[in-house]
Amino acid sequence: MYQFSDFPWPPSVTDDFPTQQEVLDYLRSYATHFNLIPHINFNSRVKGMSYDGPSTDAWSLWNGTGEAFPPQGKWNLTVENTETANTKVYTVDFVILCLGRFKDVPYIPKFPAGEGPEVFQGQAIHSMKYSAMENQKAAEFVKGKKVVVVGFGKTGLDIARECAHVNGPENPCTVLPKFDMVPPHSLSQDMHSGLIMYLPNPENFFDTVKEGSIKLKKSPSFSFYEKGVLISKDNTKVEADIVIFATGFNGPKKVKDIFESPTFGQLIEGTPRVGLYRECIPPRIPQVAIIGFSEGLSSLYVSESTCRWMVGLLEGKFKLPSIIEMDKDIARWDQYMKQVSGEYYHLSSLCGAEIWYNDQICKDMGMNPMRKKGLFSNLFQPYGNSDYAE
Ligand SMILES: Cc1cc2nc3c(=O)[nH]c(=O)nc-3n(C[C@H](O)[C@H](O)[C@H](O)COP(=O)(O)OP(=O)(O)OC[C@H]3O[C@@H](n4cnc5c(N)ncnc54)[C@H](O)[C@@H]3O)c2cc1C
Repeated sequence: MYQFSDFPWPPSVTDDFPTQQEVLDYLRSYATHFNLIPHINFNSRVKGMSYDGPSTDAWSLWNGTGEAFPPQGKWNLTVENTETANTKVYTVDFVILCLGRFKDVPYIPKFPAGEGPEVFQGQAIHSMKYSAMENQKAAEFVKGKKVVVVGFGKTGLDIARECAHVNGPENPCTVLPKFDMVPPHSLSQDMHSGLIMYLPNPENFFDTVKEGSIKLKKSPSFSFYEKGVLISKDNTKVEADIVIFATGFNGPKKVKDIFESPTFGQLIEGTPRVGLYRECIPPRIPQVAIIGFSEGLSSLYVSESTCRWMVGLLEGKFKLPSIIEMDKDIARWDQYMKQVSGEYYHLSSLCGAEIWYNDQICKDMGMNPMRKKGLFSNLFQPYGNSDYAE
C-alpha cells in the first residue's frame, strides 16, 4: 500500500517491512525520476503567512467563487533560510500546506508541580530529540543506561527496539503503555482511529519482550521522582537514567501557528478534530489546502488521491460546493468518526474508509469510482493506489 501509483518499488526490496534506508531510497528515487529536486527550495522554513485580500466574512462560497483562484487575494509567506537566517517574503496565489503531523511540535503530557521532569535527576527528552541523533550517536546515548520509553505508539516501539538492540536483556528498556495488549476499546475503534497501525511487528517485538530486553509496564498515569518514574496504579517505582517521551506531536498547533491571523488559527485549532472538506480544504480559509493531515492505513494511499483531486481543483475541473454544504459534510464525517472511533475520533484518521473517500474524490472529478474491470473484481479484489492511476 505504501507505493506511488506510477512508481513501483524496486525488485531488490522484497521484505514486507522495508528498512528506514529503503523507504528513504524509494522516496529519493521517486523525486529524482520525476525531476522534482530542482523545484524544491531546501533549508527554507515558513515562519508565517498572512492573507492580503477582501474580507472573507460575507462569502457563501469558498474564496467567494468556489474556485481555487479568485479575482483578488494573495498570501504573503515569510520564509527563513535556515542556513543564513535571512528572510524573504514570497507573494503567492495559493498555498498547499504539507507540514506533516508527526514532527516539529512535540506533545508532552502535563504534570502537577513537583511531579514532572523537573524533579528527575536523569535526562527526560522528547522522542523528537532522540530521532534527530545519528544512529551511532543514539546508540551511544542509551548504551548501558536504564531507559524508560513513555508511549506504545510507532515511535515508542521503534525506540524501545533500538534500545533493546543496544542494551540486551542485561539492561532492559521499560516501555510504559497506557493499557495492556488488550486495550479497553474495541478492535473496530482501533481500526478506524488508526491505532491499529501501532501494533508491533510480532516477529521481532514479542521475541525481544520474551528474551527480557523490553519490559512492558502498564501505566495509565505516572509521575516523576528523583531517580525515575512512579506508576500511580500500583505505586511502583521504575528507576531510570533516561526517560524518552514517545507521546506524539501536536499537529493542529503546527498548522495553526503558521497563520499570522489568530482568526484563521482558531479555525484550525478551535474544534477537537480539524475540519477539512475532503480532508483537505478549510472551508473558511481562502486559497489554502492542507494535504497529509488525515492519514489512512498507508498515508501515500490517501495523500496521492488528495493530491490528484487538488490538481483538478487548481485546473478548474470542478468547483467546491457552498461553505454551508462543506460544513455539513464535515459534520457528517465527524458524526461517523465519533461512532466508529469513540474518544479517538479527533485523530483525523481515514483508516477503513479509504475506498469510500476515494469514491468521493472520483465522483468530484467525474471519474468512475468502480476502477476495476468487472463487478466481481470491484467487490472482492483489494483496491490499491495503482487502481486510481489515470
Ligand atoms: C515512527 C513513525 C512511523 C511511521 N510509519 C508509517 C508507515 O509505516 N506508513 C505510513 O504511511 N506512514 C507512516 N508514518 C507516518 C508518516 O509520518 C507519513 O507517512 C509521512 O511522513 C507523511 O508525509 P508528509 O509529507 O505529509 O509529512 P512529513 O514527512 O512530516 O513532512 C513534512 C515536512 O514539512 C516540513 N515543515 C514543517 N513545518 C514547516 C515550515 N513551517 N516551513 C517549512 N517546512 C516545514 C517538515 O520539516 C517536513 O519536512 C509514520 C510516522 C512515524 C512518526
